[in-house]
Amino acid sequence: MKNLLTALYLALLAPVAGFAGGTPAHGLTHVKKIAGPHQGRVLAGIEPRAELFVTAERQLRLTFLDDAGKPLAPPAGASVTVITGDRAAPTTLSFAADGEALLSTAALPEGGNLPAVLRIKSSGEAKLVTIRVQLNLAKCGECSRPEYACVCEGH
Ligand SMILES: [Zn+2]
Repeated sequence: MKNLLTALYLALLAPVAGFAGGTPAHGLTHVKKIAGPHQGRVLAGIEPRAELFVTAERQLRLTFLDDAGKPLAPPAGASVTVITGDRAAPTTLSFAADGEALLSTAALPEGGNLPAVLRIKSSGEAKLVTIRVQLNLAKCGECSRPEYACVCEGH
């Protein structure tokens, strides 16, 4: 299992033509970025949507959202695993229920700009979805959000 996850992580980190750091090249459809209720990054591509937030303790918190963008208790069977950190020795984070959210049971490894691969099931029936996120924790000068959750046009 661990080797499989590591292989997946490395494959997803491999450079893809036309993409740089997960940012679509010019000319591709612009997807409007949505503000999450906790100033985190709203992950599209799963239903219900979820917000990914890095806490002050560097733990990852995943909050599912209803159609109005309000926090929702995690659907039954929802689960998430995150692989991040040094590609030679990736860290796998597991999550546990924390109030209305799922919280990683360990903190992120060191670093202010970590690639991360999320493996999310948004309910027991949902299929497993893989989402890549660059966890750049530097603060955006325009919207004051961390860069990974920046909602500025053109960023
Ligand atoms: Zn911004």
